[in-house]
Amino acid sequence: MLTITALPAFNDNYIWLLQNPATLACAVVDPGDANPVLQWLQHNPQWTLTDILITHHHQDHTGGISALKQATRARVYGPQQESIAGIDLPLADGQHFQLLGQSVLCLHVPGHTLGHVAYYMEGQQPALFSGDTLFMAGCGRLFEGTPLQMYQSLQRLAALPSSTRLYCTHEYSLSNLAFAIAVDPANPALLAQRARVEKLRERGDISLPGSLAEELATNPFLRCSEPAILDTLAHNNRLQGREPVAVFTALRAWKDTF
Ligand code: ZN
Ligand code: FE
Repeated sequence: MLTITALPAFNDNYIWLLQNPATLACAVVDPGDANPVLQWLQHNPQWTLTDILITHHHQDHTGGISALKQATRARVYGPQQESIAGIDLPLADGQHFQLLGQSVLCLHVPGHTLGHVAYYMEGQQPALFSGDTLFMAGCGRLFEGTPLQMYQSLQRLAALPSSTRLYCTHEYSLSNLAFAIAVDPANPALLAQRARVEKLRERGDISLPGSLAEELATNPFLRCSEPAILDTLAHNNRLQGREPVAVFTALRAWKDTF
């Protein structure tokens, strides 16, 4: 079993650190800054960084690649469809690879960017590294893709086993939950999730990982057929159509200015 912890970076990024205690090998996901990783390695000299996973080309996810490669010679995995300096192993949709002794599946999930990938780690405790695609109670902005692309990407992630733990790259949970409650105000799972996350944040803990089961019950972007959400959109003159993609499009546009 791997242990997974967060190395905070910038204002609200997490660089996920995966450790295999049997081999003392470790990996990081989306090192936008090399320093938190280099500092951790300095304080934990028995560990070797062997692998780096990248979800998409934005600087806050890729900025640390070259310094980490120079310091460790770790292998870098990333999306085949984006040009990112330092990628050694470009991955296509559906490709499996071994990471720290675990099988990982690469999923192409366009929307935030066109080549964005997510990493699904199979095994006893499945884990999803969703980058800037699926956040706790939210989803990434559409910088490059269309609403339909993002909708379909989120549907693919939502179809993974519901016990999957969700590791996204940003601590956006409380602001996402505020929007989610605005559009789905009577959802008891959502109110419970906000209470839980508020407590965590008040005592200085991070809100992650979440689980896909929680997201299915609370994340409005995965609940585009929910009558209560359609009602809220209608009451705010934002309902363009009742099909799920139209609901998703309206929700994403509203969240952009919320
Ligand atoms: Zn991004
Ligand atoms: Fe980001």
